[in-house]
Amino acid sequence: MTAIATLGSHCSLQVLKGASDEGLKTILVCEKKREKLYRRFPFIDELVIVESFKEILEQKCQSALEQNNAVLIPHGTLIAQMSSKEIESIKTPIFGNKWILRWESDRMMKEKLMKEAHLPVPKPVTNPKDISKLVIVKRQGAAGGKGYFMAANEDDYNTKRNQLISEGILSADETLYIQEYAAGVLAYLQFFYSPLTKELEFFGVDQRHESDIEGLARIPSEQQMKSKKVPSFNVIGNSPLVLRESLLDEVYTMGENFVEAAKRIVSPGMNGPFCIEGVYDENAKFTSFEFSARIVAGTNIYMDGSPYYSLLFNEQMSMGKRIAREIKIATDRGELEKITT
Ligand code: ATP
Repeated sequence: MTAIATLGSHCSLQVLKGASDEGLKTILVCEKKREKLYRRFPFIDELVIVESFKEILEQKCQSALEQNNAVLIPHGTLIAQMSSKEIESIKTPIFGNKWILRWESDRMMKEKLMKEAHLPVPKPVTNPKDISKLVIVKRQGAAGGKGYFMAANEDDYNTKRNQLISEGILSADETLYIQEYAAGVLAYLQFFYSPLTKELEFFGVDQRHESDIEGLARIPSEQQMKSKKVPSFNVIGNSPLVLRESLLDEVYTMGENFVEAAKRIVSPGMNGPFCIEGVYDENAKFTSFEFSARIVAGTNIYMDGSPYYSLLFNEQMSMGKRIAREIKIATDRGELEKITT
């Protein structure tokens, strides 16, 4: 029997609850400091206690997973805490495509794949000298918005960058990525592609709440102007959103284009959950600034099923449960290699 394993953070509760509901054994790789938290949840069958998540790269941890025929579900914490090379070296089968995670972590590769998928991306700015419109400055990898800042011109960029370096938030040798700021309504579009059915499913939409950029909007402009603090985009939580129905057709097209592009560029393609992240402007035109090539924490808001999945499944279906269902079907058919790397 296959077991489901994941790192204790991000969306692990949802993933393991879904696996347990599907009758699969659940294993949590858990940092010692979080043991008390995760012992509260009876659907977690086994805890593999580690000092740091990096231990998942060690033989001892991988053997524990291998003994249980575990499939590892990757999420944002794996990407944030390990290099692409380290993730690719993991021997435990990883759900989806571990090779595409490198395309998520590297800003240049990310831009290439998004363009290949015909996603309307904001213009990148390669040199701070060329900042002529409002831009957002980002760090590499999935930093969760921490240390990101906005700048209106080169001077503004240098002042804020230097301030964040002096505060220890950025390091002086860090390569930053600059992109035009897209204003509008945030929408993080969540999908699942099944290589078993060859179908794309639209799961749901969330919005991220980010601090303290959102806190800034609650302060009168007089105080905003006096503040010397550089606001960050540090994600705190997520809330649900449903789209105007007239936007859905384009949403599916974007998802399909992404799946097609991933198939061409990074074999075996975009299998499993993924997310296209962006904003709708005043003409309901979507600009996409980001994708995640694995489950996103924004799916946590739909642990009892999402509005769009209630149209596709006659049962409550979370993203965690959908992943477990896929693994169960593939295991029964002896096709696990089709959905793992
Ligand atoms: P993740 O944790 O999803 O991997 P990340 O660290 O890669 O995130 P982004 O999602 O690219 O970062 O950006 C973080 C936040 O910054 C977004 O949620 C959004 O609020 C804001 N943002 C990023 N790019 C843009 C843009 N071009 N225009 C407007 N806002 C943006």
